[in-house]
Amino acid sequence: MLVVMKAQATPEEIQAVCDHIVQLGFRPHPLPGAQRTAIGITGNQGEVDRGNLESLSGVAEVIRVSKAYKLASRDVKEEDTVVRFAGAAIGGRDLTIVAGPCSIESREQAFAIAEQIAASGARFFRGGAYKPRTSPYAFQGLGLEALKIMAEIRDRFGLRIVTEALDSETLDLVAEWADVIQIGARNMQNFSLLKKAGRLRKPVLIKRGMSATMEEFLMAAEYVMSEGNYEVILCERGVRTFADHARNTLDLSIVPALQHVSHLPILVDPSHGTGRRDSVVPMARAAIAAGADGVMVEVHDHPEKALSDGPQSLYPAQFSTMVQELEQIAPVVGRSFPRAVPASASTEAE
Ligand code: PEP
Ligand code: MN
Repeated sequence: MLVVMKAQATPEEIQAVCDHIVQLGFRPHPLPGAQRTAIGITGNQGEVDRGNLESLSGVAEVIRVSKAYKLASRDVKEEDTVVRFAGAAIGGRDLTIVAGPCSIESREQAFAIAEQIAASGARFFRGGAYKPRTSPYAFQGLGLEALKIMAEIRDRFGLRIVTEALDSETLDLVAEWADVIQIGARNMQNFSLLKKAGRLRKPVLIKRGMSATMEEFLMAAEYVMSEGNYEVILCERGVRTFADHARNTLDLSIVPALQHVSHLPILVDPSHGTGRRDSVVPMARAAIAAGADGVMVEVHDHPEKALSDGPQSLYPAQFSTMVQELEQIAPVVGRSFPRAVPASASTEAE
């Protein structure tokens, strides 16, 4: 259910409706919009008695939300969600570039890559501290040491840090050190992890599961939002198909489909989406042309020596060219491209 407040409703009226919802034993989710505030109701098994709600002061109407996902839906919030950081944003008019190595391998490696991607215009640095590897014998990540290296990178280059929480233990550490908590494809339906991330107040980037439908993807976001964390970013990273020319099939058609039904920002990861360095830049261009809010790509200064995902990692020079190309595409699709802002000169972007 959704309570739509009148445009002129006061904060006290909004609070009174929230209190009433709590008294009914449900959870209110006030979602301010440009025109009016809507209050999503979750926790109800069946219909909520709308009679009482409709008669409360400041209420315009009470609507039933028929979709399985509620808080992630445009029915509940019409305007696009913009996740804001000091000096950067994900969603809105400006495109976002998240770049960095698959794994943090050493301080030298991470700093060398961060310096180059910052110089090319990225505002977000990615790097795995805890890696979900298919083989238990493969490099599992440097853990806390990697988180500390990335915190230094944030201070030095003014880059915001995106890194994956693998489980409930690592979630608290990642939340402490990172700016964005990544939930990986393999964990997209780890419901207890999603709920725990929902209880934090840090943006959460959810990667699409390898065989997840759009509804399942949005339900993962709903798990986080239902706990009161509305700063969710979706990331398409390819799904498993019969195709044998690429690691995964990057499903760019989900971008407009998601934008139709959801207000959440969506990034595209063409690195995991293709698994091939030569396909990453063309698919990054296509992602922006399709309307994505940005891309997340893997970059390595020595991909041939990388401890994970070397074959899909761009060389820094390729990354730099890619950024210039995306910058040219941006205005064609009504987007702008923020240049790197020095750490000291942080301004609130849209
Ligand atoms: C990653 O981003 O390094 C990663 C492991 O991604 P995914 O969960 O999409 O496989
Ligand atoms: Mn990777």
